[in-house]
Amino acid sequence: MRIACKVQVEAMSSKGPQKSGRLLKSILIVGREQTRSAFRKTNQLTLMLCTSNNSGTQYQLQGNVDRVHGAFVKDGKMSFSLKKPNYRFVISGGDPEDLANFARILQKANNHFESVFDKELSELKFVDTTDVTMVQRLVIDAEKNVPDDFPPRLQHLTITHHNLQFVSGKVMAIRNLTSLDLSGNAISAIPAELANSLPRLALLNLGYNRIRTIPDKIFSLPLKVLNMEHNLLTSLNETFCKLQSLRMCNVSHCKLNSLPESLGRLRELKQLDLSNNQLQHLPYTFKHLKLDSLALFGNPFTIDTKGNKTAYTTPFPTPSLMEYSARHAILSVSRIPRHKVRYYMPLELVYYMKQARRCSQCQCRMFDPCVYKQLVTAFDCTTIATTVTMHGTHLAKVPLKHLVCSRTCMLLLFPPKKRPRPADAAGRPAQRVRTGS
Ligand SMILES: [Zn+2]
Repeated sequence: MRIACKVQVEAMSSKGPQKSGRLLKSILIVGREQTRSAFRKTNQLTLMLCTSNNSGTQYQLQGNVDRVHGAFVKDGKMSFSLKKPNYRFVISGGDPEDLANFARILQKANNHFESVFDKELSELKFVDTTDVTMVQRLVIDAEKNVPDDFPPRLQHLTITHHNLQFVSGKVMAIRNLTSLDLSGNAISAIPAELANSLPRLALLNLGYNRIRTIPDKIFSLPLKVLNMEHNLLTSLNETFCKLQSLRMCNVSHCKLNSLPESLGRLRELKQLDLSNNQLQHLPYTFKHLKLDSLALFGNPFTIDTKGNKTAYTTPFPTPSLMEYSARHAILSVSRIPRHKVRYYMPLELVYYMKQARRCSQCQCRMFDPCVYKQLVTAFDCTTIATTVTMHGTHLAKVPLKHLVCSRTCMLLLFPPKKRPRPADAAGRPAQRVRTGS
């Protein structure tokens, strides 16, 4: 964890603050310092404070945090105290999400330090004092404020309500960018090169634009927050499910009529807003999500009020030649190097293969004409989310769509209900009567 903010250090005594330092631009790094105790090597949770005067002072956090005051984290402010040395650190101007994570780690530092995951920590490395004073956050809200060149070490860039038509090359040249907010502009397409140009991007806000599709390459970014609200998106590709670090996703007020079938693979996802779209049902993997908040209102869901499943039988025609080729190609494609696929196969076939669906039961891949049955069942969203926002009469119930490849899979997924045998006069279930020659 690495936070750019301003820090004031105060030496405390029993009477209160004794000596206060100046408020300095700083970088806070939380990592593990390898120390040798009497018996074994341990990795102590450590804080490193780097300022424009000092390239790094280390403070032990494990078992050493006295008090954490995080009531104003949303305003980018917090404070905490250490037992040894008895210092209080007053922080301001930090990213609210970073500070909330930092406060959580501090609270765990005394008792539950083992539950702090290594992926949340950074390497404890001394920072060049000039790096600390560099501009790391830039907010542009008027045309006259746009610089000719952006600072190369910029991490957070916000250009909003500026009538931007496209993402410029200047923005894509800032390699260190971790958060990009271009909401409220007139952007109609996301350049696929963005993924290669800004490899560290964790927050992308392109809400209130005119975007119709998201290129597949964007989903290879380590995004934690994706905001695409108020755009013209009609669907999300299956590759969307590659965003394995995604924690917050807002695709409300778009024109989405379908969601990727593997949506349930997004294990880190905690906040999902799908409100005001054109969704009639949700994919069957939806039930595997574990969310804190979920918004689904404003969608034309059609649901059977009695909770019965509705089945649509597809015609099941003779597979086409294209389909035979696609089925064969799926079996052999793992043996063809990815970059050579387009030389081995006609482009039409590659696009056809992208439309492959998965059976809800056996996970085999199939193509639309050969789906045996589509079934829609009612699902209670409160089982997967702490807070569900929905309007309408069927509170928190949504239709889930299952696709099955064969009658066998259908019977395995939805076993037929056993009918109770009629009871005889004494109330005992009737015995089966054997008939035979
Ligand atoms: Zn199947």
